[in-house]
Amino acid sequence: MNPFQPRDAFSSPRFAQISTFMRLPHHRAASDLDVALVGIPFDGGTSYRSGARFGPREIRSQSSMIRPFNPVLRVSPFEALRIADYGDIDISPVSIERTNAIVEQEIAAILDAGCIPVSVGGDHSVVLPILRALAKRHGPVAVVHFDSHPDTWDQYFGSPYFHGTMFRRAVEEHLIDPRRTFQVAIRGPLYGPNDFDFQAEHGFTVQRVESVKERGVDWAIEQYARLRGGKVYVSFDIDAVDPAYAPGTGTPEVGGLTSYEALALVRGLRGLDLVGFDLVEVAPQYDGPGQITSLLAANLIFEFLSLLALNR
Ligand code: MN
Ligand code: MN
Repeated sequence: MNPFQPRDAFSSPRFAQISTFMRLPHHRAASDLDVALVGIPFDGGTSYRSGARFGPREIRSQSSMIRPFNPVLRVSPFEALRIADYGDIDISPVSIERTNAIVEQEIAAILDAGCIPVSVGGDHSVVLPILRALAKRHGPVAVVHFDSHPDTWDQYFGSPYFHGTMFRRAVEEHLIDPRRTFQVAIRGPLYGPNDFDFQAEHGFTVQRVESVKERGVDWAIEQYARLRGGKVYVSFDIDAVDPAYAPGTGTPEVGGLTSYEALALVRGLRGLDLVGFDLVEVAPQYDGPGQITSLLAANLIFEFLSLLALNR
């Protein structure tokens, strides 16, 4: 019997005390776990509205009603896998360089224990140290990156590190395989017509939101079959989803995925050799009534855990 089970959602004393992801036990020893749910409460990489440091807190709260069985994928992730709330990484709120070093070290320790990290941000800048740790263990990984933004700009106010440059740095540092990298739901105004030259030059596959909407989710998913046969990391910036469904984020872009499409696209990663996941850029201060963005984030994480359980 797997000892890492969610607590009963309807046990009234506990109902008032929800403080972990999906009511799971808090457990800080990765060697006991198959999957560690890790909070990374850092938003010093944001360029517009800050607040994603409170993402892990609110996503924990909004994950309290997630039930243990996934009826679409027909799997019970908390039975198949030892999953726990690993707690938050002690980042430095005033230094992105220092935070990058701390996050890399923590994620590396989780990987060294044979455990899969599922990270909850925090702003998207945290993906760079995660990819550094992954590349040290697995070599350059394939990436499926859900976002409205390309996050391949070169610098911002003279800094090479913020939440819009990580995937350029990851290519430069040979952390990811750009020919096995998908960017999904990209949209919105750009600085100029050459903003995607980097992607073309390095062989990224960009599934702009217009393509996903016109050709459909099934078309998008069919292309992910090309990623079979190698390690795949998945990075989900919640602003891939339309602000009508996910307003609680720092840099919203209109015309995005519905929450239903987002769930379907994540399920479409079924069968890939998944080595990690992050859900980033939830800023609860800007959320709609009922904290719908954090609720969606919690459910997207549940879908990813279900995929990991199917790979078991
Ligand atoms: Mn974004
Ligand atoms: Mn992003």
